Amino acid sequence: MAYSVKVGALQCHILSDGLHYVDGGGFFGLIPRSMWQEVIEPNANNQIACDSRSLLIESDAGLILVDVGNGDKLPPKARQRLGMDDRSSRLVGELQRVGFRPEDVDIVLFTHFHGDHIGGATRWDSADGTPGPVVPVFPRARYIGQRIELADASFPNERTAATYVPDNFRPLIEWGMLEVVDGPLRLAHGVRTDIAPGHTAYVQTIWVEDGGESLLFLTDAASWAVHLERLAWVPAFDTFPLTSMETKRRLRQAAAERDALLVFQHDAQVVTGRLAPGKRGLEVRPEITEPAQFDASL
Ligand SMILES: [Zn+2]
Repeated sequence: MAYSVKVGALQCHILSDGLHYVDGGGFFGLIPRSMWQEVIEPNANNQIACDSRSLLIESDAGLILVDVGNGDKLPPKARQRLGMDDRSSRLVGELQRVGFRPEDVDIVLFTHFHGDHIGGATRWDSADGTPGPVVPVFPRARYIGQRIELADASFPNERTAATYVPDNFRPLIEWGMLEVVDGPLRLAHGVRTDIAPGHTAYVQTIWVEDGGESLLFLTDAASWAVHLERLAWVPAFDTFPLTSMETKRRLRQAAAERDALLVFQHDAQVVTGRLAPGKRGLEVRPEITEPAQFDASL
């Protein structure tokens, strides 16, 4: 589902590339299933529904799209394993639903280079989706990513290789479309990035701020609302788990001070929320929630 929110005078849209299903242990790491299944019920394969959201910002530097989902290039076996039914990426349809075409996008910002965040930047150049040469999905855009993230993606190790797919980013380099940056950026009036290490070495979150209001797009610094509420709940995916905890501590403080609207990229249930004191300290009060759209029997 696409949702539109205003941050001061800045119009933002939260778009989804659709659900996929991953092992619950991936998102909840050391936390026993008896605890995390109270947050989300797994299917018979122990998989939980996972959304792939993007943030679209109508800024004075043009249309900025943060992350682009899995896209269409995953082989049939991978799609089957991830419980993805239809072939076509939903992100372009969602973009059209809020009034834009792929060629309207000026900047594509990658939070990091994992396949579920940048796969949708390119697609196979064929009508039937058969593999071959790729073309950019957003033909006019500058694509922006962090240098350390590109280095990690370009030289993966045995643990990271599966998610760093060269077809997702190498063609962008060859076409001269990928702009590599070092550290936090100010992209437009009220739009900036912040390095939030833990999930990867240089993953970046996005802050949108205008008129005394703030939005924080957390990417995998806190993939789900519960990850921000409970510092010890660190995904098994994270390459630097103890750093993730300290990053979350800092982000929670910053978000609470600003009463920021939090956008969760992978939470299948809580799209946005704000921090408020609760029984266990700061808790997320959901604002936009998804209707139960996933099938626990899948
Ligand atoms: Zn992710």
